Amino acid sequence: MNARHAVAESSHAQEFREKLLSWYDAHARDLPWRKSRDPYRVWVSEIMLQQTRVAAVIEHYHEFLRRFPTVEKLAAAREASVLAAWSGLGYYRRARMLHAAAKIVARERGGTFPSNAKDWLVLPGVGRYTAAAIASIAFREAVAVVDGNVERVLQRIEGQALSGEKLWDAAERVLERKRPGDFNQAMMELGATVCTPRGPQCLICPLVGLCKARGEMVSAKTSVPQKKRNIHYALDRRDGSVFLTQRPQDIRLMAGMWELPEIPEPPDHAKPFLTVKHSITVTDYTVNIWTVPAPADVRGDWWAVERLPKLALSGLARKILRRSGIFEHPK
Ligand code: SF4
Repeated sequence: MNARHAVAESSHAQEFREKLLSWYDAHARDLPWRKSRDPYRVWVSEIMLQQTRVAAVIEHYHEFLRRFPTVEKLAAAREASVLAAWSGLGYYRRARMLHAAAKIVARERGGTFPSNAKDWLVLPGVGRYTAAAIASIAFREAVAVVDGNVERVLQRIEGQALSGEKLWDAAERVLERKRPGDFNQAMMELGATVCTPRGPQCLICPLVGLCKARGEMVSAKTSVPQKKRNIHYALDRRDGSVFLTQRPQDIRLMAGMWELPEIPEPPDHAKPFLTVKHSITVTDYTVNIWTVPAPADVRGDWWAVERLPKLALSGLARKILRRSGIFEHPK
């Protein structure tokens, strides 16, 4: 068998599809967004899953849909409410784009979603991967997806580095055109659960007989070492309220979100009230929370504890307030 064309050859491609889909039918994780092909639900889940772990998305998906059950409700919501529902998922630009796209669908398209990947691409926040994922899952359009998981699986199967259009071509060639949504999800599922970046489980892989690499391949990408940083926040409480400060509206990251006031130095206390770990892109933070008054020069507001769950909090602030027992995760 020629390594370069192992999967592209029709007989192998067909075997690849059958083996992968049988495995997916038996082993797919029971994820909430897989219960529906409703385009609104598929779209919300795909935007949430960009750059966010499945476990974190599961925590927020139901609550977001409870607050905004239709694209019309999302379009009519205030941005602060959308950001509050997004709090904890990070990368808030996604929430703003989702909101902007909802307004276009509700007001300019009469509530009708695009039915193919090309038309999805016109909406804010929808790139090539997301457009193909939604069109294949919700509308059964025969278009392949390429994300990090698909890229790794295809490279290992083919036993060679693939990038750019070659990768998309390879994905198109193996796509099962009768079940494109399931096939795309199966590729991503295999990459997420079996053909993982480190230590792929080839012994239980349905594609082991077709795979050239059968194990890790040296990645062309070099990993960036995580930086470490200590930061300190004041947890200032008074009469059932907490003092919070709002991030400026004109900054790139988490504009307008509420957070605890940062303090430059640890106070002269024996130990912090609480310590949490928090990672953002390439930095691992050790976050120490001190029960001290907010610095006098920090501007902010007192927020009643019962209003906090609906406030547009940063993910870190939400984590701290929950871990402090100040409010619970909404059921
Ligand atoms: S055999 Fe191993 S390397 Fe190949 S696709 Fe399966 S898990 Fe990945």
